[in-house]
Amino acid sequence: MNVVGTGEGQQMHPDLELLLKLQHVDYDIGELERSKEYMPDMMGSLQNEIDVSSKAIENSQTELEDLTVKQKTSELEVASLQEDLKRYQSQMLSIKTNKEYDALVTEIDTIKTRVTEYENDILSAEERIEELKNSEEALASNAKTIAENNGKQLKKLQERIDSVGDKISKQQHERQRLASKVGKPALSIYERVRRGKGAGVVVTLKKRACGGCFKSVPPQRYYEIRKGEKVVCCDNCGRLLVFDHSENADQD
Ligand SMILES: [Zn+2]
Repeated sequence: MNVVGTGEGQQMHPDLELLLKLQHVDYDIGELERSKEYMPDMMGSLQNEIDVSSKAIENSQTELEDLTVKQKTSELEVASLQEDLKRYQSQMLSIKTNKEYDALVTEIDTIKTRVTEYENDILSAEERIEELKNSEEALASNAKTIAENNGKQLKKLQERIDSVGDKISKQQHERQRLASKVGKPALSIYERVRRGKGAGVVVTLKKRACGGCFKSVPPQRYYEIRKGEKVVCCDNCGRLLVFDHSENADQD
């Protein structure tokens, strides 16, 4: 928002000076009202980050436990298959017919294939367990950092949410105090333009044009605005025009 300085020894109409202050107050009220909308959303996403980072630890631990169980089960399966294998291999010695021989060879091959499958499972479980254990520390420190940082921000946001009502009512009192001092015609112009165009009712001249709609101002009005003796509106958009002596120093 532009802060308009009247400059050393320069005049601005008292109504316009008051309306500039009122405009600041209105801007603050608007910001406070908006913060009531976005602060809960911000808090929601900060909390979500905390939840996601701690959920990642939880997921990793669950996966680790499942894999450990799977690994143990596979090891037991392999041990039992090895027993079967030994038994079949000893049966080989007492085989009588080719048919018995073929059947036993098929059985032994099947068992060997299953052993290989289980061993592959054990190996990939071991690799994944290693991976999970290696990332445990990083996950924990990430979650800790997020919990600390977001926790601080959440606390600040909660304080802001708790105080926003008070701040708005203070600004509304200030608004009333200022508005009561402004001349009725100037105030009603201000309120009307604000309803239609929102913030930025009192604007400075920019290169001899309205700072709101950029329509150029006729010379007579330009001098009136510059002298600051009258309240002058832009005849195009209705905004209240003020001369910023510090900004327009080169035009003096
Ligand atoms: Zn204008």
